[in-house]
Amino acid sequence: MNQSPIWGQYAGAVSLTFDDGTDNQLKQAVPPLDAHGLRGTFYLHARDKLMQTRSAEWQAVASSGHEIGNHTLAHICSNNFTGSRGGLEDCTLDDIEHDILHAQERLLTIAPQQKNWTFAYPCHCQFVGRGENRQSYVPLIAKHFLAGRGLSEYGFGNQPGFFDLASAGGIRVDRMSGFEMIGLVEELTARGLWVILVFHDIDGGVLSVAADDYNMLLRYLKRRRQDIWTATVAEVALRIHAQTK
Ligand SMILES: [Zn+2]
Repeated sequence: MNQSPIWGQYAGAVSLTFDDGTDNQLKQAVPPLDAHGLRGTFYLHARDKLMQTRSAEWQAVASSGHEIGNHTLAHICSNNFTGSRGGLEDCTLDDIEHDILHAQERLLTIAPQQKNWTFAYPCHCQFVGRGENRQSYVPLIAKHFLAGRGLSEYGFGNQPGFFDLASAGGIRVDRMSGFEMIGLVEELTARGLWVILVFHDIDGGVLSVAADDYNMLLRYLKRRRQDIWTATVAEVALRIHAQTK
């Protein structure tokens, strides 16, 4: 087992992250986490409908110790994702910063007690503009947030001291079996890495993971809690930030 001083008693760390703030997650993702004594990170895009109809429920999620993260207001993606104009290729750095800070104002009303904030890039895109004018917006995330979650290659975790906290790599788990998720976590944490799993819905219509598989993973994480640190993105990022400066 890796004995990296970063992790103390643990071999490595895992964060369970959930994108978009869907109603499905309130019903299907949060209660099993609570039942297993685990905490997740929920990246909300602070759209009007969520703020008007689900604020109280997400406030309760935040109050019970889960992390609320910023996933922008408009969920701006590449034009190639949406098949329409007005996406990241047509944005400036000012546009995206304005959108993110507006979302942050709204999210602060959901989790006013939360001190450390992290960000997830919508559609895992980290740029504005196109061609010769394309620019990274990772520096904006580094300026405003403790950490940013992007996407890594399948089977890669984050190596403390080497990866960029503003662009930590997540692994998409859509449609994965419980056995596959457990295998990824077991193997990558044994190497002393931080594994960030990216969920959408549980037993739902959108990029779903089956509830049986999700619960299998949670049972495993609870069983392995002496060796594998399951914590929110902000908790892990804080530890890495403090120990790798
Ligand atoms: Zn999203």
